[in-house]
Amino acid sequence: MTLYPWLVPIYQQLTHTFLQGRGHHALLFKTEVGLGTEQLISQFADWLLCQMPQGEKPCHQCKSCLLRQSGNHPDFHLLAPQESKEILIDQVRELNQQLQTFAQQGGNIVVYIQGADKLNEASSNALLKTLEEPHEGVYFLLEAPIQDAILPTIQSRCQTYLITAPKVDSAMQWLAEVCPNTSFETRQIALNICHQRPLICKSFLENDRLPVRKAFLQTFWQFLKTRDVFLLYSAFDKERLFEQLEWLESFFTDSLKAKMGIQHGWINTDLGNAIPIFSQRFHAPLLLEGHRIVQQTQRDLREINAVNQELMLLDGITKLVMTLFG
Ligand SMILES: [Zn+2]
Repeated sequence: MTLYPWLVPIYQQLTHTFLQGRGHHALLFKTEVGLGTEQLISQFADWLLCQMPQGEKPCHQCKSCLLRQSGNHPDFHLLAPQESKEILIDQVRELNQQLQTFAQQGGNIVVYIQGADKLNEASSNALLKTLEEPHEGVYFLLEAPIQDAILPTIQSRCQTYLITAPKVDSAMQWLAEVCPNTSFETRQIALNICHQRPLICKSFLENDRLPVRKAFLQTFWQFLKTRDVFLLYSAFDKERLFEQLEWLESFFTDSLKAKMGIQHGWINTDLGNAIPIFSQRFHAPLLLEGHRIVQQTQRDLREINAVNQELMLLDGITKLVMTLFG
């Protein structure tokens, strides 16, 4: 597996630290989405488990490496949120029990905790002791979104690595390689819309989302004219709500920038004409409030699982119409 280029420096830094004998037994990776950080962690786990690592690389040939490739390594444990969207105490208890025994392959043991922000109070408490007094050769690799808070008791026992979006130049270079049939300009516009996240941008380009976004924003334009809540509601693809709400959010952000005469750092660089027209129609506090409503809708959809998604979206759009035209 070849690492994404923006992950290579951090991988090298990690292995270098460990080769010098300064490796920490609990590492917390706080990451932006769409950067493939799970690839970094997985490869680092391979390296920790490999019986004959070649410098900073796993050998890909030893029994441990082969077990990893088949997805059956007995000393690799994955902990991830269950359907309840949390990591439950029973999962941690089971892990603790497994960690009582020695490594079956005689090497290291690796615990990969995906969504470490989803550890609740009870499951964190159950994890703490293991995290505090680990057995020799047991490594914890925790992953969590950069914007979400981790319980301080957990975070304080880890060494934290921040994984952020690569520089525009290197993201553009990579996109040119993986999406060779797109123009430079298209890639540039898409990367901006995707907030510089290369993997999300790759999927955006491959699925030809640029015209879809254009059509969606045109409907938003229609909605502003007609104030027809259901028109905008029906333009939402229920499978891709977050992507569309993000488009709307950045539309408001850029409109505010236009209002304040800020010319740089726009996300919708291809809408340089439409956005100023939109922004002229509303006072700054209304644009700010519109932006807040879109953000709140995103948050509600992410955090509240029990309630009907459609209803929440409809509620957001209704608030938007009341605010802008109320
Ligand atoms: Zn190996």
